[in-house]
Amino acid sequence: MVRDFLTGLVGIKKDRIAWQWPKLLTLLAILAIGVGLSFAAYEASRSWVWAGIGLGVTAILLVAFGLSFRETVRAERQAAERFRAVIDNAHDAIIAIDSLGRVEMFNRAAERIFGFQAAEVVGQNVNMLMPAPYHDEHDGYIKNYITTGTAKIIGTGREVEAQHKDGTIFPIDLSIGEMQSGNSRGFIGVIRDTTERHQSERRVRELTAELVHISRLSAMGQLASSLAHELNQPLTAIANYAEVARQIAAMGDGNSPKLREFLGKTVEQADRAGQIIRRLRSFVEKGSTERHPEELNRIVTEATNLATIGARVDGIRVEFDLAEALPAISMDKIQIQQVIVNLVRNAIEALRDAKRRELVVQTIAASGAQEVVIRDTGHGIHPSVAEKLFTPFLTTKKDGMGIGLSISQSIIESHEGRLWAEPNPGGGTIFRFRLPSGGAREAGA
Ligand code: ADP
Repeated sequence: MVRDFLTGLVGIKKDRIAWQWPKLLTLLAILAIGVGLSFAAYEASRSWVWAGIGLGVTAILLVAFGLSFRETVRAERQAAERFRAVIDNAHDAIIAIDSLGRVEMFNRAAERIFGFQAAEVVGQNVNMLMPAPYHDEHDGYIKNYITTGTAKIIGTGREVEAQHKDGTIFPIDLSIGEMQSGNSRGFIGVIRDTTERHQSERRVRELTAELVHISRLSAMGQLASSLAHELNQPLTAIANYAEVARQIAAMGDGNSPKLREFLGKTVEQADRAGQIIRRLRSFVEKGSTERHPEELNRIVTEATNLATIGARVDGIRVEFDLAEALPAISMDKIQIQQVIVNLVRNAIEALRDAKRRELVVQTIAASGAQEVVIRDTGHGIHPSVAEKLFTPFLTTKKDGMGIGLSISQSIIESHEGRLWAEPNPGGGTIFRFRLPSGGAREAGA
């Protein structure tokens, strides 16, 4: 009882016992008034009975106040314990600092993420958890905020770097709020370790790059026999010219203009074969995802020429309709060529058994964008795939992989553009994609 009463007179402040002066003063006031009134009652009545009643009431009031204070203290302590449990069980690190940057609270998740025990950090400057340059600049940030009120990060969140006890630097999401209690000001930071998120994002980027590359190889695989045929022409010509040149040389006419002419033709054909190989190599190489200003017409012509190798043999008429004076726009050349090769190869396959075999490749200047149109007169999109044309692994072909259109779409979207299909009014399909005249995001190689 006496302990309960006394407990009511003290409170808890920052885990330390502190005297509750307002409460003590209230008690002293009750005591003084009670004793004063009892004394006055005795003076007036000259009877100890009234004085005794007055002192008794005063004593009851004192005990009642003491117990009510105790309840308040107990409730405060329970609330503080609950608050502490919530903070300690939080998944994110929670760190509170005072206006000088000294750590006041460091929860369990913070211990896990940073490798320090709370006791090693509490009372120290929070900059011990930061790598350079934040380590040296942090005190300045706080001072600047307190004097100017200009917040760089307070009240918002941001991705920054933190430093583990073992010196490792790792990425975190940090959000900071300000707390004010009485005259003291402090800040509370909520921290999430984003190392895993970064790793999985990097993995997804690597896998996407791998898939984009595989799909390019697969497109080239489909072209292999046409390419062999295309290469065979200059090689046969080289063999023929070289043979004639050898015969002229055998006749002993080393200075003959004919000999020079045939050797010249040999070089020309070797150049042609070399060009085909170079185009092929640059297309199938694992490209970096760098973007440069490129002329769309040149990209479209090169890619279409690569994709239509052998198409004329199938009786397909390929026509270009290119807009004049298109300014260069930023793009990953190989990736955009990959899209064009995919779309043109699909068109050629759709045309193979058609009566009218026409393929038109067009470029158009649109407002703030440039558009590529690939129009065929083939069999049109099959109704079974029309609704989900860009879904991966969806194909109507015997040997199809069904990834060409979905990869093409992600490449165009990573360039902030749009790819879509529509029926060709004269029969067949039109694929269009638009690229904005501005920049773009990353998409894989
Ligand atoms: P794949 O060519 O390996 O099947 P794609 O993702 O490139 O994979 O194409 C998916 C499907 O879309 C094709 O199987 C085909 O049914 C349809 N398709 C694509 N382009 C055309 C086109 N120009 N005409 C008709 N159908 C097309």
